[in-house]
Amino acid sequence: MDHVEFRVKAKEMVDYIADYLEGVGARRVYPAVQPGYLHALLPRAAPAQPEPWDRIMRDVDDVIMPGLVHWQSPHMHAYFPALTSYPSIMGDFLSSALNVLCFTWASSPAGTELETIAMNWLGKILGLPECFLNEQNDSLGGGVIQTTASEATLVSLLAARTRTLTELSQLNPEEQSAALLAHLVCYCSDQAHSSVEKAGLIGLVRMRYIESDENQSMRGEKLEEAIISDKAKGLVPFWVCATLGTTGSVAFDNLREVAVVCQKYGAWLHIDAAYAGSAFVCPEFRHWMDGMEMADSFAFNPSKWLMVSFDCTAMWVKDSTALHRTFNVNPIYLRHENSGKAIDYMGSNKKRYKMKKIRTDSDTNGKQMNGKEKDTVIDDGYYYEDTEKLGGYDKMAPGCTEKIQLENPDKKEYLHWQIPLSRRFRALKLWFVLRNYGVSGLQQHIRKGVKLAKEFQALVESDVRFEVPQNSNLSLVVFRLKGDNALTERLLRRLNARGHIHAVPACFKDTYVIRFTVASQRTTSQDILVDWEEIKLVASEILVETFG
Ligand code: PLP
Repeated sequence: MDHVEFRVKAKEMVDYIADYLEGVGARRVYPAVQPGYLHALLPRAAPAQPEPWDRIMRDVDDVIMPGLVHWQSPHMHAYFPALTSYPSIMGDFLSSALNVLCFTWASSPAGTELETIAMNWLGKILGLPECFLNEQNDSLGGGVIQTTASEATLVSLLAARTRTLTELSQLNPEEQSAALLAHLVCYCSDQAHSSVEKAGLIGLVRMRYIESDENQSMRGEKLEEAIISDKAKGLVPFWVCATLGTTGSVAFDNLREVAVVCQKYGAWLHIDAAYAGSAFVCPEFRHWMDGMEMADSFAFNPSKWLMVSFDCTAMWVKDSTALHRTFNVNPIYLRHENSGKAIDYMGSNKKRYKMKKIRTDSDTNGKQMNGKEKDTVIDDGYYYEDTEKLGGYDKMAPGCTEKIQLENPDKKEYLHWQIPLSRRFRALKLWFVLRNYGVSGLQQHIRKGVKLAKEFQALVESDVRFEVPQNSNLSLVVFRLKGDNALTERLLRRLNARGHIHAVPACFKDTYVIRFTVASQRTTSQDILVDWEEIKLVASEILVETFG
């Protein structure tokens, strides 16, 4: 494809996409295909010769579209949403065309800086405490776009693991890391997403599941009991994952209670708000964030409900140095002359030295100054290299009379934010969405989803054959046919086979339910009524077949 053909075919593609999204509600949302269907339709090897574009697009229509679940459909109620939007599609389109990699500032200055700016904007929209933002050159906190919430959870667990292992090895210099690792233990609720368990498996640490209360919420008391019991066994609690918006019922752990326990026992607190985080653009839902200022890291997926196309997980940390220590590598080909003056999301950000600030003013002749003895350590922390000011390894702090002594001056630390090196220009689509919707547009979108879910719940509750056995929040409703689980299982199976709506199940203490998520910006009250008619129709069939 050359420039000339691209100009024509890309414009056709724009129409194709607009037609698709405009008409997606009329398609069956769940495909009527069986495993292997595509293998039977496509050749077993790539074409030897170039194929004309129109033939390729014909195959998209004929063989790809019939095998898709249409996630943008107003009748898609399965999982959590994965919404896209026109500004996001434009961002991805442009980002694909530019195809810049944003691992260091030098590899793409605008890509890197836009990510910091967009993450600061988004953090402020959500009302995150300032310590999570990166607005000053010496901010320790900051946001980074990760690929998925699972990855954010893993990154946070690994950072906490490194932090604790470093502390333990200082206390037990003779012990190997592997031996210390065996003592670590972390916690999440029994309602946490499976990605938390997976992070523990990859991190080689034991995970305790805290029994949630009747509202599926992890409470501080139960967490503390588990921590006390583990400490008595010689274990070291180091990381807790709280969930804001569980996958099963959008339940919320009691963040303040959990955070207080984490602070008391020195455990890193990560918050997984994969789906529900989007709702915090609306102040009325922020009561669930109470205690956030005590957390160490927080992540949610704008790629779920906030209409930023997959992939886009927004993650903030309070002290990014913990990440940097975990992923610290520094090959020469990634260094650049501006290292240390701007963020490099892959790493080699600011050069950082371990520092002691010591009172050593010669005027005092070794006596007292401002009540401090000479050679008193008055600050013990980190020093960020400012290439213009740092001449040697010892230097006077600006405006102070203390001397800064840098420990291990040859060992600079380079700052890292993620597992992979290469990263797409994902900030572009996020920035487009934030600008094109504005805060009011995003709030309107979230509020509409919540309102439609309430409308659906009212319909369910008005029919005596159905029940809502479990409270849920935001835009999720869980419901079932009264009676044996088998009835609801059959109902869901048949609904999905008919393909007019798509939903998935959940189980609460052996009670089988259908999860019905309403989130698409295309879903209307009329769609909810149509979907409810479909559910009632199929339910009537099943009840007649079962009970006559
Ligand atoms: N955490 C929660 C609470 C979720 O509901 C999900 C997925 O729905 C995840 C994590 C996993 O998200 P991701 O696919 O971005 O890893």
